[in-house]
Amino acid sequence: METDFSREKRILGVIGNPVSHSLSPLFQNYLIKKYKLNWSYLPFCVSKEHFDLFINGIRHLENITGFNVTVPFKEMIMPHCNKISFEAEKVGAVNTVTVKDGLLYGDNTDVYGIKMTLERCLSVFRLDDRPVLLVGAGGVAKAALFVLELMGAKKVIIVNRSVDRARALEKYVKENYSYQVSLFGLTRLNSIMAKKDIHLIINTTTVGLKGESLPLDYDILLKECKIFDMVYSKTKTPLVINAIKKGIRAVDGLHMLVYQGVKSFGIWTGIENVDADKVFEYLKKKIRKNNGKNTYN
Ligand code: NDP
Repeated sequence: METDFSREKRILGVIGNPVSHSLSPLFQNYLIKKYKLNWSYLPFCVSKEHFDLFINGIRHLENITGFNVTVPFKEMIMPHCNKISFEAEKVGAVNTVTVKDGLLYGDNTDVYGIKMTLERCLSVFRLDDRPVLLVGAGGVAKAALFVLELMGAKKVIIVNRSVDRARALEKYVKENYSYQVSLFGLTRLNSIMAKKDIHLIINTTTVGLKGESLPLDYDILLKECKIFDMVYSKTKTPLVINAIKKGIRAVDGLHMLVYQGVKSFGIWTGIENVDADKVFEYLKKKIRKNNGKNTYN
């Protein structure tokens, strides 16, 4: 295959540290090929120390169309943006940047990814009076809390390992959203599950990334409970595997990754009718092929 090095080639990418594990280049380049664009999507690993320099350089490169931003830069990118979308402002994080005439436009497509996963994968369209349990209080928890507001939640219980770290989040919710919120340490997870009528659990911690499990007693979960584990890896996460074994509907973060990526692709290219299911199938197939049998199915 001939490689195109012409000036017309547009560059997209993902900026993070680390970034080598990212699956975004895989499916974004699949989309680029599918739509016959003369573009490429590349991973960029940048140190915190050089982040500002890197962004100022990118701003003035004429063939950069945009980039995704991942850990640890989703907040650090905000002061660099000339304009920030409503969602990104609410969530306090940008994961998608568009570059135009030296200006940076910041968006947050995690919000879309979370909402689509709840709707399409778990058939959660509107939340009722029953409390939602949100585990974790890091960066992506803020995006989830915003989605819960959009979907009409009335009560949200946040459970986090460090209660002190989660206090600011609780305060933010109380000041900005209409639902009731309460906060507990992770050790209270099962006592809360046993007492409250919880029908939706969203895990926004990193627990599960390396095959670890949340200390959740699956026997006390209601049969109708649904679980959204934002963690994704090359195999299904322990939370999802254990929940499914108990007959509970559960989904991991791979769908969210695809939905947020498809939305970013739409922002950069104007192509908005991408079939996310096909992208998901492609990604699953690639993961399976790269890792032998013991992976996604
Ligand atoms: P942060 O580092 O901001 O937050 C991490 C969270 O995990 C905190 O609540 C932290 O608790 C908790 N945590 C970490 N280790 C443990 C542990 N051993 N036991 C209990 N809690 C723990 O990360 P993000 O919010 O940016 O990301 C969280 C997860 O969401 C990651 O796995 C990431 O891959 C995933 N994600 C998935 C996306 C997708 O598209 N599917 C998009 C974005 C994120 P504490 O406050 O006590 O430290």
